[in-house]
Amino acid sequence: MSAKEKLRYERPSIRKMNAGLMNKFGTRTEYAPVTHIDAVPVKRIIDEYGSPCFVISEKTIRKTYQSAQRAFKTRYPKVQFAWSYKTNYLDAVCNVFHQEGSWAEVVSGFEYEKAIRNGVPGNKIIFNGPEKSLAELKRAVENESMIHIDHFDELYDLIEVCDKLNKKAKVAIRVNMDVGVYPLWDRFGFNYESFGAWNAITKIMNTENLELVGLHTHIGTFMLTSNAYAIAAAKLCDLAINIKAKWNKAIQYIDMGGGFASTNTLRGSYLPGNDISPGFDEYAEAITSTILSYDFKQEELPLLILETGRAMIDDAGYLLGTVLANKRLSDGRKAMIMDFGVNILFTAFWYEHKISPAQEFTHHTEDVVMYGPLCMNIDKIRESINLPPLNKGAQVVVHKVGAYNMTQWMQFIAMRPNVVMIDMKNNVHLIRRKETVDTLTSQEEMPSYLKKFKLA
Ligand SMILES: *Cc1c(COP(=O)(O)O)cnc(C)c1O
Repeated sequence: MSAKEKLRYERPSIRKMNAGLMNKFGTRTEYAPVTHIDAVPVKRIIDEYGSPCFVISEKTIRKTYQSAQRAFKTRYPKVQFAWSYKTNYLDAVCNVFHQEGSWAEVVSGFEYEKAIRNGVPGNKIIFNGPEKSLAELKRAVENESMIHIDHFDELYDLIEVCDKLNKKAKVAIRVNMDVGVYPLWDRFGFNYESFGAWNAITKIMNTENLELVGLHTHIGTFMLTSNAYAIAAAKLCDLAINIKAKWNKAIQYIDMGGGFASTNTLRGSYLPGNDISPGFDEYAEAITSTILSYDFKQEELPLLILETGRAMIDDAGYLLGTVLANKRLSDGRKAMIMDFGVNILFTAFWYEHKISPAQEFTHHTEDVVMYGPLCMNIDKIRESINLPPLNKGAQVVVHKVGAYNMTQWMQFIAMRPNVVMIDMKNNVHLIRRKETVDTLTSQEEMPSYLKKFKLA
């Protein structure tokens, strides 16, 4: 081009960058094939149970439970886990935890009923949550469950129930507090800093039919700092020491709730979850060293209860799925449509799940947008994931989906799929049958005048 020649005009354009998120290790490479789960071929599970299908590894649950237990028990003499039902209340899952020695932690009358039906003794059930009806409170008092009071209205309800039954209830209060993580979780329980907690304690101590057995907190979920637990434990210990000083009453337990982060990667996170999750040992160290630094008499050392949910089960859950179609979006990006969407993979709103092809593939990879099958714009599993070409019919394994998906899944447009569990000997068991149209319509009623219609 000579210097005199005029430059050709090109229309400017703005293009959104869609490269996979980088971190200091480079672009994520999450595409090694995963052909087996616990030695069972993925293809065989899909052939037998369909796609999509949730898979739970009993081996991983027990291994995770035991490592959590070890982290606490090697540091503190009295430890008790209580399985958080809302994290995954499939009965088979709950019973693996109960076999391991876990009590039940429930947050509704429905979950309470499930724990009772699973055979958990009433006095091994912790009843949390802001909603407990008079009938549910009555049942919990009769069963001698630990009732964790959320607000004063519930406290008054409980006093009424106990007076009618002429029976004493075992209670704790849920305490919320500033642990240096914002926004504050102050909607549950009684506040520490503004003395709401102390007022509730005073009321309970002055009520004949209530026995204050514990102090509870649940400071948040996916807490990435163990120091928040040290602060929370210190505040509960302060309350316990003050109760002892004022009423000469030793608190039986301190319940630190749940909230430990799993090793999932949060959306938009710079580093992969594996590298930033503190892990059980670090949480255990923060909590137990704090409690042990307080001046409890040896024989009055409170039992330490943990209601760990997410970190206990995420790794044990997998979702198997199949590619329905590939297409190009108008901006040139490649899109992949899967047979599972946010309806059953609710945690896709928060996590960048690791997703692996379930069969061998060529080495070439490309960034793709991954959609679910729903006729709904928000049904996007991933804005950008680097994957090899996966043709229609190719199968994938989504990792770390054990927490909350099987309780928060939506029945929207599609039915919920089968859930299977792989046992310790690698046998596969169906633990929740997939739903059918009948599952849904069996709940519906048709007024007789609407039964017939005629279309022209
Ligand atoms: C949800 C919940 C848990 C479990 O929380 P994770 O973040 O899954 O560990 C424990 N205790 C209470 C009171 C809860 O509401």
